Amino acid sequence: MKVMKFGGTSVGKPERMQQVAKLITTGQDSKIVVLSALSGTTNTLVSIGDALAKGDKHQAKQTIEELENHYRAFIKTLLKKEATLKKAEAILSEHFDFLNIILKISFNEALNKDILAQGELMSTKLFSAYLEENGIDHALLPALDFMQIDANDEPYFDAIRVKLNRILHQHADKKLFVTQGYICRNAKGEVDNLKRGGSDYTASLIAAAVNAEVCEIWTDIDGMHNNDPRVVKTTIPVVQLSFEEAAELAYFGAKILHPTCIWPAQQEKVPVKLLNTMQPDAPGTTITQEAGSVGVKAVAAKDGIIAIKIKSSRMLLAYGFLRKIFEVFEKYKTAIDMVTTSEVAVSVTIDNATHLAQILKELEPFGTVVADKDQTIVSIVGNQIAQTPLVLMKLFDALAEVPVRMVSYGGSSHNISVLVPSANKVQTLQLLNKGVFGLE
Ligand code: ADP
Ligand code: ASP
Ligand code: MG
Repeated sequence: MKVMKFGGTSVGKPERMQQVAKLITTGQDSKIVVLSALSGTTNTLVSIGDALAKGDKHQAKQTIEELENHYRAFIKTLLKKEATLKKAEAILSEHFDFLNIILKISFNEALNKDILAQGELMSTKLFSAYLEENGIDHALLPALDFMQIDANDEPYFDAIRVKLNRILHQHADKKLFVTQGYICRNAKGEVDNLKRGGSDYTASLIAAAVNAEVCEIWTDIDGMHNNDPRVVKTTIPVVQLSFEEAAELAYFGAKILHPTCIWPAQQEKVPVKLLNTMQPDAPGTTITQEAGSVGVKAVAAKDGIIAIKIKSSRMLLAYGFLRKIFEVFEKYKTAIDMVTTSEVAVSVTIDNATHLAQILKELEPFGTVVADKDQTIVSIVGNQIAQTPLVLMKLFDALAEVPVRMVSYGGSSHNISVLVPSANKVQTLQLLNKGVFGLE
């Protein structure tokens, strides 16, 4: 079994969807195809939810109308036969009727999740109609029947595995399956999702649940590049990454992958491939247990970071100080990304400001507390970085002009992270491209 996930841009235009149909019908293996919403749709659904949360029904209605026009035009190009076009029109009517009904009832967070689910529900149903029109045998599997998260919003993997395999067993005569990325049910049984960009996570969970031979993530670029192509002009694809390297890059901001999507595939040792729908023959990036080569591979940046410094002479020669500080963050379920210490101070970074005020207040008894917002973690990721000749020299030479706030090195053998003000992010990525990767 092979899992193939196609992102928003890969299904965002009728001709792209048609190209996806070609890609999934080559080869003999059984396939589970995971689709995102058409590009732009989830952003639009978020804006509808935001408008409703503010009580602006007029704005929400107008946005729904524009979205509906877009989809009505989309199916006219996608489909050729009268019967399938009629079917697709009925599908759209069902989903847009639902959105219009929401305008009339009182808005809440559970309803918002229902709104957000419409994108993947529509893309998969329209794709299924296209496959049907072209006589391509398949089964459309509702992700809401098997994708589940627990009370902590973490995937309930055992349940996913059992339910999905049971469903596949019921369709033993089929070789091609289509399902929705991103959407799931929560512990209360309500419609929920795996957070923005979560279709990658769906694909990896499915791949692990069925012990797939490969999990292919098809997108609009030929693999993980050495730097953020939205920021830096010249970037090159990385041929091979280990699961650890890929997980670090995803977590530290490489948008091509959802931050936590690697672990399920890693757990079941399913190789992950990042491939380009527009350039299907390009080798892309292969992610496996083995790193392939030693040395620096890529750099990524994560914005929205807050640095907190706690300075106290009481820390000098004291033990238990760090534990007390970390307990404050634990109490507020706030994850720490970077930590640096000296004899009299400790600095940590967090990316979740929800409980910042309470955390700062509870840290006050430990010393002078200073918080700096608008920081960015820039992570250089590779294999056995410490053994890469001159890596630190190149890094510090490149960043000579940048006001680096923190440095973390040695925590793992595949990451060096620096914290810089977000205003210096672009400069930092560009300087590293030249100084560390030798690219313009
Ligand atoms: P999809 O809709 O297929 O899920 P995404 O937009 O989520 O696609 O991810 C692909 C995008 O990620 C690329 O178009 C690229 O701009 C961005 N990106 C950011 N960092 C990287 C990187 N290091 N390598 C490749 N792409 C990256
Ligand atoms: N459609 C969802 C989003 O845009 C999930 C995904 O595309 O991965 O966030
Ligand atoms: Mg994505």
